[in-house]
Amino acid sequence: MHYFSTNKRSPTVTFREAVLNGQPDDRGLYYPSEIPRLSDAFFDELPRRPIADIAFDVMRPYVAGEVADERLFEICRETVSFPLPVVRVSDTISTLELFHGPTLAFKDVGARFMSRCLQEFSLDGDKRTLVIVATSGDTGGAVADGFHGVEGVDVAILFPKGKVSGVQEMQLTRVGGNVITLEVHGTFDDCLAIAKKALADDDIKAKAEVTSANSINVARWLPQQIYYFAAMQQIDGSEVVVSVPSGNFGNLAAGLLAAKSGLPIKRFIAACNANDVVPRFLLSHEYEPRPSIQTLSNAMDVGDPSNFVRILEMFNRDTRAIRSTLSAVSISDAVTETTMREVYEQCKYILDPHGAVAYRALTDDLNDNETGVFLETAHPIKFDSVSQILDKEIPVPDDIAELARRPRTSIEAENSFDAVKEIILSKI
Ligand SMILES: *Cc1c(COP(=O)(O)O)cnc(C)c1O
Repeated sequence: MHYFSTNKRSPTVTFREAVLNGQPDDRGLYYPSEIPRLSDAFFDELPRRPIADIAFDVMRPYVAGEVADERLFEICRETVSFPLPVVRVSDTISTLELFHGPTLAFKDVGARFMSRCLQEFSLDGDKRTLVIVATSGDTGGAVADGFHGVEGVDVAILFPKGKVSGVQEMQLTRVGGNVITLEVHGTFDDCLAIAKKALADDDIKAKAEVTSANSINVARWLPQQIYYFAAMQQIDGSEVVVSVPSGNFGNLAAGLLAAKSGLPIKRFIAACNANDVVPRFLLSHEYEPRPSIQTLSNAMDVGDPSNFVRILEMFNRDTRAIRSTLSAVSISDAVTETTMREVYEQCKYILDPHGAVAYRALTDDLNDNETGVFLETAHPIKFDSVSQILDKEIPVPDDIAELARRPRTSIEAENSFDAVKEIILSKI
């Protein structure tokens, strides 16, 4: 197994190099040279095996011996050390709840796997590794938690002060240790621009191996397959259709990859909010990126989804083939709100805005003979809009209540690269 760039103008690399580089120089994305087929015996035994064993079998070919088997098993066990339950919402619809991890969102899975791989690979070198990431909310929390206490690695997280939800803010600002959180007086785009500059800065690079932890890294992307296997362990029906709330399309691309390896999912739905580049693409065959639009499901406000190129690659850029496995639906904020209220009234299930988009896309598209599952990508407590829309207090999980008692460790920073750079250099 090796990894090539989807732009085909950078050299092929090993798993280790792909993890450390993040992105190839030609600005493509790393893609595996082959997609492993899992055996019939694997699928016969699937419902009865612990998820850590399954995760190991799924990930092992991709890691290609670059992490020793024993250590890889340990990493897999820690990656999925929380429940991944399929929960019935109505007679015909279930949800795979991906919010039982430490930061209450599915990004915990990728962040935990990636942090441990980086630890493995950075302990070989003589410099510490510095991970720099800008976040609008969910990514930063998952990265902060996933990397907290990881040896040989420091993390700098930039987020726009006052522009994340109450729970997200708590998860970002109360970590400490090897995690440096910077509350930047600016927008998410300002944070992105500063992070980009920091990743290329010679003074910072002189002190540390610098890398990013965004969702295009293969060590974040590939382990997201694992929970599709966990879902299929728990589902009895046939003709399974999975609806995935999609922004950068990493989550969906991982599900498609699992299906290519033999996991019997019949088809997928890309559930989008008003940012409808992919639904438009499937209709018109034209891929036209646009500026992103702000919505209630803000982790999906993406106008040029970074992982979509991996889906194109998987299907040899054959749009007809893509359409045989994937449909795409765009759901407005108004419909998202109505859906949240209806599902709460009729089923007593609290959807978060991202899950609501996926639920609605699924019910709009599902046929009678099919079994429908949607992914709940985050806990409703993470979004302040939920209690307003449902006019109801959402119970705060214990872990979050505990976070509130921890000291604040974040540092405020002016909206300038020099200010942020100075803080980072003084901390690493
Ligand atoms: C990141 C995120 C998404 C989008 O996932 P992609 O892999 O970027 O498509 C959906 N929902 C929530 C809650 C997220 O945090």
